[in-house]
Amino acid sequence: MRKVPLHEKGGIIHEKGAGYCTVRLRIPAGLITPDHMKGVVRIAKKYRADLHLTTRQTIELIHVLPQDLEGLVGDLSGNGTPLGAEKAEIVNITACPGTDRCRYAMIDSLSLAKTLDEKFFGREMPVKFRIAISSCPNSCVSERLNEIGITGVVMPYRIPGTCTGCGTCVQYCREKAIAIKNGQIVLDNGKCFHCGMCIESCPFHIIKADPAAYHITIGGRRGRHPRVGYHVVTVKSPETVVNIVELVVRWVYRKAWSDSLLPDQLDILDFESFRKELVKSIPEEEIVTGY
Ligand code: SF4
Ligand code: SF4
Ligand code: SF4
Repeated sequence: MRKVPLHEKGGIIHEKGAGYCTVRLRIPAGLITPDHMKGVVRIAKKYRADLHLTTRQTIELIHVLPQDLEGLVGDLSGNGTPLGAEKAEIVNITACPGTDRCRYAMIDSLSLAKTLDEKFFGREMPVKFRIAISSCPNSCVSERLNEIGITGVVMPYRIPGTCTGCGTCVQYCREKAIAIKNGQIVLDNGKCFHCGMCIESCPFHIIKADPAAYHITIGGRRGRHPRVGYHVVTVKSPETVVNIVELVVRWVYRKAWSDSLLPDQLDILDFESFRKELVKSIPEEEIVTGY
């Protein structure tokens, strides 16, 4: 196999002027320890580079001289903050703070980002391939605008009990998916965004939900013509999410071509047939319907 020269590697970006390079780091979900951060600063100073925080939750060392690349990349690797990705490959995986810190969170986005990073980061692809995870439909990392987007969701339902018709849940629901009829609530699944905000709001605990699920979209994009990805399936466990990502990555690797973005190719690639096959391959008990 050809040894890829350093300047051709993903994560090394040629700047427009004066022969400088930008070096992007691999920092899944943007989580970095103070010691690693200190190391990055020390390395940047050593090579007279400045730092840039990117939209994909990573750090770039900018205005690096090509002759410094080898030493700098070696130092970064020794620091535990290795070279990132930027070319046609699986790039830095982004995630919101999730159940670790956010009160709206429904899934552990950080653990999932770590698992996906370990398994998929840097895999060579015909197209640039982004994966992002938000722990609830507030979508703080705009996950549905990525090639694969994963969102934590719940399906609220009413259990028997005395609804006083107080309207608290109605106030909390930003989608106007709850109405009060004859003094009782009626949930409109067509309008529900599966954010779960109504559940905590009821003082009588009569709105419940099954454990949170993972809503998966494929083919989103940002850029000149942003588009929300297609909903493929909603599943119960992070293990199934990882299996689905593997199948999608393999399919894209085999089928896609390199001179256009994945979302522009999906119709030509007959994505719908692939989606049906994909859903068939998932154990029935893992699929959650109604989303
Ligand atoms: S997406 Fe939801 S869970 Fe994640 S940070 Fe935003 S509000 Fe919190
Ligand atoms: S889950 Fe969210 S959108 Fe759905 S009914 Fe409750 S508050 Fe409204
Ligand atoms: S908050 Fe609870 S009691 Fe009040 S209207 Fe909603 S479901 Fe009924």
